[in-house]
Amino acid sequence: MSPKARTAIRMTTPDPGTAGATALAPWDYAPAPESLKVAIAPEHQLFIGGDWVKPASKAWFDTANPADETVLSRVAEAGERDVDRAVGAARKALKSWRKTAPLERGKLLFRVARRIQERSRELAVLETMDGGKPIKESRDVDLPLVAAHFFHHAGWADKLRYATGGDESRPVGVCAQVIPWNFPLLMAAWKIAPALACGNTVVLKPAETTSLTALRLAEIFQECDCPPGVVNIITGAGETGRMLVEHTGVDKVAFTGSTSVGKRIAAACAGTGKRLTMELGGKGPHIVFADAPIDQAIEGVVRGIWFNQGHVCCAGSRLFLEESIADEFIARLRERMQQIRVGDPLDKNTDLGAINSAAQLATIRRYCEAGVREGAECFVSGGPLPKKGFWHAPTLFTGVQPSHTVARDEIFGPVLSVLTFRTPAEAASRANDTPYGLSAGVWTSKASKAYEMARQLNAGVVWLNCFNEFDPASPFGGVKESGFGREGGKQGLLAYLRVGGKGER
Ligand code: NAP
Ligand code: MG
Repeated sequence: MSPKARTAIRMTTPDPGTAGATALAPWDYAPAPESLKVAIAPEHQLFIGGDWVKPASKAWFDTANPADETVLSRVAEAGERDVDRAVGAARKALKSWRKTAPLERGKLLFRVARRIQERSRELAVLETMDGGKPIKESRDVDLPLVAAHFFHHAGWADKLRYATGGDESRPVGVCAQVIPWNFPLLMAAWKIAPALACGNTVVLKPAETTSLTALRLAEIFQECDCPPGVVNIITGAGETGRMLVEHTGVDKVAFTGSTSVGKRIAAACAGTGKRLTMELGGKGPHIVFADAPIDQAIEGVVRGIWFNQGHVCCAGSRLFLEESIADEFIARLRERMQQIRVGDPLDKNTDLGAINSAAQLATIRRYCEAGVREGAECFVSGGPLPKKGFWHAPTLFTGVQPSHTVARDEIFGPVLSVLTFRTPAEAASRANDTPYGLSAGVWTSKASKAYEMARQLNAGVVWLNCFNEFDPASPFGGVKESGFGREGGKQGLLAYLRVGGKGER
């Protein structure tokens, strides 16, 4: 961070001793550490064809805990021969899996869902250690949703005719699934559960910094007697992902990640006949009208941007306030920010954990510097940050213009940009002034206004008087540069089915 940016940020940071609505500052509370110790093997191999195999590439990489930078394990890096082997295993398994009775496919998914519930505390702790998210989020938000996704799709397996309007359907085939690091296990569930329910087989590649929970999910598939090769998990970095999605034995690519990588994958798949779904980036508008229930709206805004350190594709990262309430709302939001506890992700009281990697922290800092340089006012909530690991305090930019970098680019960190509006029409046109279209939120006590805004907002998901709420029955996905295709709900299933004519690839 440049010296100028650092000074500007410090100037607006309140004295931790006097700030906040309570006498006790959040960072003064006694620690409440998670007591479960999760054993982590020093080495993790690839999961291919139902077995754990050493990488033919002979390459390995370390995965670390971003909260203290300690190495947790070394993980296999799949090379070309490994990718080929995994796709081959998935293709071989497809022959019998696609013919397995739908009820049996559903039973496997039910078993997996129940085993996830049984092992959920262990999985939550591991997710937090490998990725940096607060234990209360991995335990109370992610893991219940992971299990819910498997339960939901288990129920669909023998009812696919209801998703296709009565038409016959077939699985698409071998699915290459590439996921990001912000919700590692949840994204794995979003990808694997519908694919298997529809009779496909999969090769999944988790992100390099967060491979460990996907590999434990592989263990669960083994425990539940999943036929070999139906689920394959191969680890590695971007190059492994590239080789996987470009493999000619793949019938469908399901990608969740950045818009820039998504464009590269779409270009590589063009003309190959591969099915493609893309869940990409976002710059979600969060609109608060003067008639909104302000206390609830403040909580919604906090959840919208400071949940999961702001590493959320659908984060409400642009806050649009109706001009008449802007000053009061910002003052109260600043007070509320002082109550956000930043620190040890394994502490049950922590609200904001570690930034996932040094690279992501550097990106967030670069954006904050740009915000200050371009003239926005930066407010950072107080409290000491841990000395080791990767940390970024909750940050608020006010006086933001629509042309500012912090109003346009996806920061993917705990940074909120505030803009204002005078009329609903202005709110909608400013909110839609972005290349993205993943999520939006509206706060108002007038139902007619809420529905009219939802109609005008160009986003795949619009939350009314809430934010960042998820349900497997509700389709999720974007428009414009946020991608195409849906995950969840009936629409999510159709991405994994060929409906009707046999001529389709
Ligand atoms: P990313 O760099 O695009 O990476 C996503 C995944 O793709 C990772 O597994 C990555 O591997 C892999 N990858 C990288 N280059 C690749 C290539 N050329 N071909 C195939 N795979 C490749 O994104 P990220 O930084 O991990 O994740 C953050 C982004 O994901 C944000 O933009 C966010 O908005 C988006 N996201 C979207 C959704 C959604 O549902 N719309 C959900 C979550 C996140 P390595 O990481 O191992 O290099
Ligand atoms: Mg890690």
